[in-house]
Amino acid sequence: MTGTLTVIGLGPGDPRYWTAAASEALAAASDLVGYGPYLDRVPERAGLTRHPSDNRVEGDRARHALDLAATGRAVAVVSGGDPGVFAMAAAVFEALEEARPGWHGVGVTIEPGITAMLAAAARLGAPLGADFCALSLSDNLKPWHVVTSRLRAVLAADLVVALYNPVSRARPWQLGAALALAAEIKPAETLVAFARAVGRPDESVAVMTLPEAVDRAPYADMATLVLVGATATRRVTGADGASHLYTPRRVGRQP
Ligand code: SAH
Repeated sequence: MTGTLTVIGLGPGDPRYWTAAASEALAAASDLVGYGPYLDRVPERAGLTRHPSDNRVEGDRARHALDLAATGRAVAVVSGGDPGVFAMAAAVFEALEEARPGWHGVGVTIEPGITAMLAAAARLGAPLGADFCALSLSDNLKPWHVVTSRLRAVLAADLVVALYNPVSRARPWQLGAALALAAEIKPAETLVAFARAVGRPDESVAVMTLPEAVDRAPYADMATLVLVGATATRRVTGADGASHLYTPRRVGRQP
């Protein structure tokens, strides 16, 4: 008897950001697999077995989830944000490439969630209103020179850039180096946002210029998403006096 494996995005924090489909998939699960703090977001209920794991063992976690599903369980793997953005969905497919015979017949489904970049953008205004891209600054799975060459290319293309995984305990200097590189390429007026723990009780959001962001880099942490604006990204004051960050959709003078 083969089971199922569903990889579910829990959004940035607040359960009100779960999709209805994610809630249904969680309600149908017999087993919950994931990083401990994400599992803690899902309420206990009878018939739901939890399998917490450490954050840095994604491959082991994916294989464990597939092994469980192969015994006939309805396994839900939970991720923060969207499971396909720098997260478990790709880890499950990486494991599937090993194609272990016991996994034959296990069906995999992905349930999307609101990724940190979108939650942060909504808090700030509309900074992703024109072309943008997302980069992970983590050099756990790719060499640092690849990170910097991609960053150079997207900054030179004047895209808005969302920087995921800006720092961790093992990687304290990468964000400072990335912002120093941005400061070489972009004008000093370029706006940068630090959005921390969006959707959680300790949420904080700040907008500053690029030189200020370089100074602030040491204070970012693992729960921070950094957005580097394009040249056109600017502040607009609302009718109520509130300040919003946005990127106009129009580029140049099209008819
Ligand atoms: N799958 C997740 C991203 C995993 S990578 C998603 O789609 O959001 C982890 C990084 O995501 C963190 O280092 C941080 O840069 C960002 N992040 C995750 N949750 C966040 C939140 N609530 N607020 C701000 N950034 C967050």
